[in-house]
Amino acid sequence: MIQTKAKSFVLANLPYEQNALAPFVSAETINYHYNKHHRTYVDKLNELVSGTEFEELELEELIVKTAGHADKAGIFNNAAQVWNHNFYWNSLSPKGGGKPTGELGRKIEADFGSYKNFLKQFVEAGMTDFGSGWAWLVEDQGVLKITKTSNAENPLSQGQGKALLTLDVWEHAYYLDYQNRRGDYLKTILDKLVNWNFAEMNMNICKSIDA
Ligand code: MN
Repeated sequence: MIQTKAKSFVLANLPYEQNALAPFVSAETINYHYNKHHRTYVDKLNELVSGTEFEELELEELIVKTAGHADKAGIFNNAAQVWNHNFYWNSLSPKGGGKPTGELGRKIEADFGSYKNFLKQFVEAGMTDFGSGWAWLVEDQGVLKITKTSNAENPLSQGQGKALLTLDVWEHAYYLDYQNRRGDYLKTILDKLVNWNFAEMNMNICKSIDA
């Protein structure tokens, strides 16, 4: 029997059951999105880094090291998509959605003018991200901002600050449930599923790093 090395990168568990976000994101969507798309990025990444200098790196390190290097695009794309999807699953919660309270709620009102403006900007970023990509809430030098990235790019690879939340706007994230209505998907996620506890936790992590 051939001894095989343990895989470098693993598919992280979903933080909830596959039907937990229904009816807003169906179990069928999660099944394809997590078990097929996300898993394929993990498998492909392991295949590409096997036996290379990249095999032992942490995922974030690997993303930063390969970003912007055309000859490493395959590794970068798969590594970033693994990270982005881990981040996306945690950006959603069956108990999420609506207007955030507490410190993050106050900061959103301060930095965007109002919660309504924040919603408008987040949906607009997702809507105007041409093709496949991601919309993000980031904290950049102490200020909350909305950004968007194409394909597998993320705030780590683009130097856009610290990611707090993300919404996947690849068609595979919403097509089964919303078909071409990307705006309805974005608005529904923000209204019903967005995980403010995760965003607040990420904001507090940057605070302790800055201190
Ligand atoms: Mn996706």
